[in-house]
Amino acid sequence: MATDIIFLLFGLFFGSFLNVLIFRFPEMKGVVSGRSYCPKCKKPIAARDLIPIISYIILWGRCRNCQKRISPQYPLVELATGIVFFLFTKYIGFNYQLIPYLIIASISILIFVYDSKYLEIPEVFSWLLLIFVIIAAAMAPSFSISNFLLGGLIGGGILGIIVGISDERMMGSGDIKIGLAFGFLLGPERSILFLFLSFIIGAIIGLILMIVKRKEIKSEIAFAPFLILAATICSLWGQSIVNFYLKFAMI
Ligand SMILES: [Zn+2]
Repeated sequence: MATDIIFLLFGLFFGSFLNVLIFRFPEMKGVVSGRSYCPKCKKPIAARDLIPIISYIILWGRCRNCQKRISPQYPLVELATGIVFFLFTKYIGFNYQLIPYLIIASISILIFVYDSKYLEIPEVFSWLLLIFVIIAAAMAPSFSISNFLLGGLIGGGILGIIVGISDERMMGSGDIKIGLAFGFLLGPERSILFLFLSFIIGAIIGLILMIVKRKEIKSEIAFAPFLILAATICSLWGQSIVNFYLKFAMI
């Protein structure tokens, strides 16, 4: 089996683990030990009902015991983790550099879901993200300290200014650390694209939410998910997009 397919399957199961982390993080207990149970009826979930995505489909999104709905967050996180693991394995190849990227992807998924649900980013998540981004950047064969610092300055600096002048209405101080981390990782050119994309994605999704859920412009929407979507696009295809843009800008 091709390694990217193996990592796709690994990602699906690892996504289940990330769901458990998100679910149990607020209480910080029994994250690794302790069996999974239904949040509604508290009955432990049988092993056959813990197969990523497949169990959700077989059970039609309902608990086998109490028939209450299971949040679509569970299969979506599994699927997203599987796809992201697959894409990074394909992009980076099966070598030592893949490890920090898969860890960064996992922390990003935690932040994505946590911020969407609770409108906050736990400090421990953003610090872990920063640490592994520094490791990943330093491990890159093309590492340059000036690109690293300049990227961080763009990613963290511009978001910092926006947070400052908007008085945290558009995004919070937690988002600055996320922008700084991805800026370090992406370098200056891709960081500009990263910020640009995150605002476009944010505007589109904000508009959809306003129409579908009738959210008001003033209502709070988490911003970190947009940063994470944009950073994922930029780490996978950012250089090709920048090169494509520069080719046409030069004409
Ligand atoms: Zn139940």
